[in-house]
Amino acid sequence: MEKTIITVAVTGALTTREQNPNVPYTPEEIAEAAIESHRAGAAVAHLHVRDPFTGKAAQNIELYKKVIKLIRKDCDILINTTTGGGPGMSYDERIAIIPALIKEGMKPEIASLNAGSLNFGILSWKKKTFLLDDVQMNPWGQLYRYAKTMKEHCVKPEIEIYDAGMINNAKVLQELDALKAPLHFQFVLGVLGGMQPTVENLVFLKSSIPPGSTWSVCVVGLEIFSLGAAAIAAGGNVRLGMEDGVYISKGELAESNAQLVAKMRRISLEMGRETATPEDARRILKLEG
Ligand code: ZN
Repeated sequence: MEKTIITVAVTGALTTREQNPNVPYTPEEIAEAAIESHRAGAAVAHLHVRDPFTGKAAQNIELYKKVIKLIRKDCDILINTTTGGGPGMSYDERIAIIPALIKEGMKPEIASLNAGSLNFGILSWKKKTFLLDDVQMNPWGQLYRYAKTMKEHCVKPEIEIYDAGMINNAKVLQELDALKAPLHFQFVLGVLGGMQPTVENLVFLKSSIPPGSTWSVCVVGLEIFSLGAAAIAAGGNVRLGMEDGVYISKGELAESNAQLVAKMRRISLEMGRETATPEDARRILKLEG
């Protein structure tokens, strides 16, 4: 079996320091988290940036430039930028980051491509109130435009699958020549509004993608360690980090992104799969220069 690609999602748009004081906000903290995670075994860094003062998600080119510059001083971890951004961002703002970074000579090798729309909520089960009541909007015209933009610039789309119908959306985009095989999928399980993290769902999704595709799983919450193990057993890859969960084990907050990566790496090694270096990941994902 191929080596396991571990992607670290260091900050995301929604997790806060109230949940875990170790969530990185500033460009320096985000870069440091990616660098430490690389040392711990991550091959890909999935990046969002935050307003350094408020911690609010910001699709800001200057902040991305700072983060990428700092990471590149230290290591060759693959850069995967979000085009999902965060709640309230416009379609233009979310995708503009790709041409803007290319103009600066900082092309992200991978970018996330949300493959459809979904209810995106965070629920306080205790208070029975929605802490976040959002719809992640990705209508057809925008899906096509985002995919085409990535294709034009040779940025590999990481196709984010929150629900099973989104796999067919990706197939449609491929038919329309906006996506090019081999496709790479990220199954995002456990979002309130999307598919939940069960082995049955994972097997179903894995069997639904076009042959020859690569895939990975991420989970909102601690089930990443069991679903990650299932993915490793099935030849897939894993994403984890403080974007998706702030705990290292039940009731215990993670000290860092690197600590989460190190735990997943141990699981992979114990299961007999080495973890990929960035160079391995470039080959496995068939990235073009
Ligand atoms: Zn993200």
